[in-house]
Amino acid sequence: MTSSTGAPSRLHAEQLDAADPLASFRLRFTIPDPTVVYLDGNSLGRLPAATSGRVADVVGDEWGERLIRSWDEGWMDLPLEVGDRLGAALLGASPGQTVVCDNVTVNTFKLLHAALDLRPGRSTIVAHRGEFPTDRYVAAEVARQRGGAVDWLGPLDPGAAAQVDPVTASQVAGALSDDVAVVLLSVVDYRSAAIAEVAGITRAAHDAGALVVWDCSHAAGSIPLDLDGVGADFAVGCSYKYLNGGPGAPAWIWAAGRHHDAMRNPVPGWMGHDDVFAMGAEYVPAAGVRRFLTGTPSAIALAAVDVGVGLLAEAGMEAVRAKSVALTSYAVDLADAWLARHGASLASPRDPAQRGSHVTLRHSEARALTQALTDRGVIPDFRNPDGIRIGLAPLTTRFTDVHDGIASLAALLDALS
Ligand SMILES: *Cc1c(COP(=O)(O)O)cnc(C)c1O
Repeated sequence: MTSSTGAPSRLHAEQLDAADPLASFRLRFTIPDPTVVYLDGNSLGRLPAATSGRVADVVGDEWGERLIRSWDEGWMDLPLEVGDRLGAALLGASPGQTVVCDNVTVNTFKLLHAALDLRPGRSTIVAHRGEFPTDRYVAAEVARQRGGAVDWLGPLDPGAAAQVDPVTASQVAGALSDDVAVVLLSVVDYRSAAIAEVAGITRAAHDAGALVVWDCSHAAGSIPLDLDGVGADFAVGCSYKYLNGGPGAPAWIWAAGRHHDAMRNPVPGWMGHDDVFAMGAEYVPAAGVRRFLTGTPSAIALAAVDVGVGLLAEAGMEAVRAKSVALTSYAVDLADAWLARHGASLASPRDPAQRGSHVTLRHSEARALTQALTDRGVIPDFRNPDGIRIGLAPLTTRFTDVHDGIASLAALLDALS
């Protein structure tokens, strides 16, 4: 990867792009300013070119022309249909277990309560101190509502010490007891991209009589998941990151079929009722995962999610993962070559097998550097207190983007020193 002068060359990045089997997917996205180096697809994925037309059809034809008839003509089943396509393409899920609805925060609330209901007599939730804030807030509140507690894993000051090492089964096993009802963890850590031991943790929890809620927000669409295969219980994730569903796109819930009959939705709404338009006196939950619906879903937003899921399905998660590993490995190589001597340290696992699709670098000037990069048309994101997150979305990020983005960061650091 180095030129004759010893510096990683742009020509090499161009060769990697030329050999990239997923390169053509970038053409399926609307990219009005090709000079912008977008390294934040893990916070808000790019706009698929087909989304505008698809949304215009839903608005113009289905809403404008068909009006209320569109609920019967397809909208009612969209949360489950898009869920099935999402589950098959991204989650390793057989049909009937995935529903697209609400957001991750609300869905996590629903699943934690549902898990506690399935484990009567137990009131402890195990979660990680370094977990994404909304997950921690919900875990703490659900524990309070249930008269239980959260048993927190990880270092006392997670801000200072990013979770670089993946959460392991033995770490979780150490927190399990006969009072633990549910473990809530991210598959891919939002700061470091460390991948938790999904199969081992699931097994350890089950051995102790507990359930697991997996937050797949940074994993869905970036690493292949096998929820059926690992015998997972529940999972949740968002669709505006690697799924390219758009800002505020609805999230999803996956629930293993074996839990369907007994699981309860703590926000029982009419859309999750067994007979929506019966307007019955009593709440009777719908069969299956539909009962996790609460109120009326957005047909417009669901159409946008469907487009993003379709692109990932077409690419295939094995190919997406292969490119992701190549992109993050290339970013780590460039950081080693250009940034390490300026005090930027890697805050993501060095082993690509333990790393999702972003790379986080720590530097004392991370906030100012992120701002300076953004001013130059290079868009990563800043994570308190000292992290620069470089998100590499396999369908849209080029190797030349990685090269140019990290070269810009190197130039800023050169100027500082
Ligand atoms: C992005 C993300 C969320 C987002 O939650 P919303 O309620 O959908 O805004 C939650 N958890 C994790 C781990 C995330 O990465």
